[in-house]
Amino acid sequence: MPKNPVRKQDKCNLATMEVLVPDNRTGDGDTLQYLTEYHYAWWSETEDPDRIDNVKMVTFSIDSKGNIFERDGSPEADILARRKSKKKLGSKKERDIISLAEFDRLFPDEEAAITFIEDTIWQGVPVCPKCEATNAYMPKSGKPMRWRCRACKRYFSVFVNTPMEKSPIPAKTWLKAIHLMHTGRKGISALQLHKMLGIAYQHTWHLEMRIRKAMEPDDIVLAGIVEIDETNMGGDERWKHANKKLHERWREGKVLVMGFRDHTGKTILFPIPNNDRETLERAIMAKVEPGSTIYTDGHTGYAHLSQLGYNHEWVNHSVGEFVNGMATTNGIESCWALLKKGYVGTFHWMSAKHLYRYCAEFMYRLNSGPGNGPKIMGATLRSMVGKRLTWDDLVYGPEDGTPLETEAMAA
Ligand SMILES: [Zn+2]
Repeated sequence: MPKNPVRKQDKCNLATMEVLVPDNRTGDGDTLQYLTEYHYAWWSETEDPDRIDNVKMVTFSIDSKGNIFERDGSPEADILARRKSKKKLGSKKERDIISLAEFDRLFPDEEAAITFIEDTIWQGVPVCPKCEATNAYMPKSGKPMRWRCRACKRYFSVFVNTPMEKSPIPAKTWLKAIHLMHTGRKGISALQLHKMLGIAYQHTWHLEMRIRKAMEPDDIVLAGIVEIDETNMGGDERWKHANKKLHERWREGKVLVMGFRDHTGKTILFPIPNNDRETLERAIMAKVEPGSTIYTDGHTGYAHLSQLGYNHEWVNHSVGEFVNGMATTNGIESCWALLKKGYVGTFHWMSAKHLYRYCAEFMYRLNSGPGNGPKIMGATLRSMVGKRLTWDDLVYGPEDGTPLETEAMAA
């Protein structure tokens, strides 16, 4: 058993915790959550207090002898050992974090922005979108389609087959929008972006939705230890006009979002039509590999997971239990806190129709880490290829899909 300073005490208070892990404290009162007398969880914040993507929920338990164990996938790890081996964080440049001033230095004009997009998508070799030849040159015509294919003689640009094709919005503005959407941990509302970019509100909303579409996830499946939970998103009954109140039917005015988070922090979020056992089980079978360990709350919809080939443990929130043995759902609940803060503070109102896309955006930021610089902007640009979203499709088209709906349609 490893030694530590609180060995002689049979409990550890917040002050002791601070002595043990001073460099992990944020100084923000509500980030340190008192769970039970022997269990603590806190946000171990890295450097940038404004970004929750950086933040990893770490839960510790203290046994009756005062030994402290990290409970985040590595129960044997002693905190002090962890502190010694703690990797130094890279510089902001290494972590791909840039300021707005740096953004303007990197992209002083439209030419710099277009060149960056070409380098990112083509990786140095212009490809003709029609005949796929790689034998293009830049004529001196100065046309918007600034490349010409020697094979088929057509003019083309890097924007063909991306949401930026035929967009009247300058390339630099697109880049700035992508940068800003990665900067705030809760995203940025179309209203705020509209003020910052100086383009019409409707265009900004459409632009943001098109970037969100690029952020839609590839088909990821989690394994190992996976926390699962679901939550209600939707306007608070209290603030609704009397004739809009749903009273005891309040659940009908909300939309359910289901969340999965593995022990490395990889997260999946998407709306679900209801929280019946059948729906939850179908979603879990689609998103978690059999044989994995699943932590949930005491919802009866999860009661039969062991029959589906999962190791299932649960915590009973209704009796104030937050950690049961190794089981906890604190990780996924931290995502709800973020999504709901985004809902209330940033977006004010997310329509049920587009909730899937907002979930995709939050997931993308959670999974891609804290960067907002050229690396993550490049990754987002590359995933914009082939993903156009017209105004008509966005406004008049069907609801954005969820994995469950796609699966149902395929069946
Ligand atoms: Zn060609």
